[in-house]
Amino acid sequence: MKNKIRIALDGPSGSGKSTVAKELSKKLNILYLDTGAMYRAVALKTLNLGKDTFDEKAVSEFIDNIDLQIRYISGSQHTFLDGDDVSEKIREPRISMQASNVSSLKCVRLKMVDMQRKIAADMSCVLDGRDIGSFVLPDADYKFYITAGVDVRAKRRMKELEEKGYKVDFEKLKKEIEQRDYNDKNRDFAPLRCADDAIIIDTSDMTVTEVLNKILSYIK
Ligand code: C5P
Repeated sequence: MKNKIRIALDGPSGSGKSTVAKELSKKLNILYLDTGAMYRAVALKTLNLGKDTFDEKAVSEFIDNIDLQIRYISGSQHTFLDGDDVSEKIREPRISMQASNVSSLKCVRLKMVDMQRKIAADMSCVLDGRDIGSFVLPDADYKFYITAGVDVRAKRRMKELEEKGYKVDFEKLKKEIEQRDYNDKNRDFAPLRCADDAIIIDTSDMTVTEVLNKILSYIK
């Protein structure tokens, strides 16, 4: 039996992939890497510098030397930027769209993909993102494309944000998710795409446990 297993979980915002990826990593006792957190941290860095998240020139000046670290504390992923734990800050709603903007820049993707491949090189892992099966780990052992209708995704994201104390306008949130879908699918470099050999799971009418069991049923 192979002693390393690499699983790619891709899909649009709010499809439930990060919840499932977390559960899956616990069940299989393997590392979980939320790659979205890394793009969020780059967006935060850009904003901290007072720059525009579409400004490729400004971003390219710092990206190669960005002090971005992923650490695991009591089993959960923490994102450190310039030495500070920004795990909470990068979840603020204002960062989501900015992360989508910055993730369309080629210099950002090249750097993030390089970091992700290094993290995934040494151990069994599950990575969630947009381009994991199609670009970051094209030879992953298992690839899943997790999706759901936009209303369901917006409702899930609304619940998540409300639980954190944010007041959310549903229509506005839905529009933002649609805009992020559009950006992610239409950027030039490594767009959100279902890899040809990925198993597609529509989670619209499924619970987390059902999705998890379905994924586990494919993993030997
Ligand atoms: O998954 P999450 O919503 O946290 O990701 C934030 C943004 O980062 C996404 O909207 C997407 O534009 C970008 N992203 C990406 N590639 C990944 C993960 C996230 O482009 N592998």
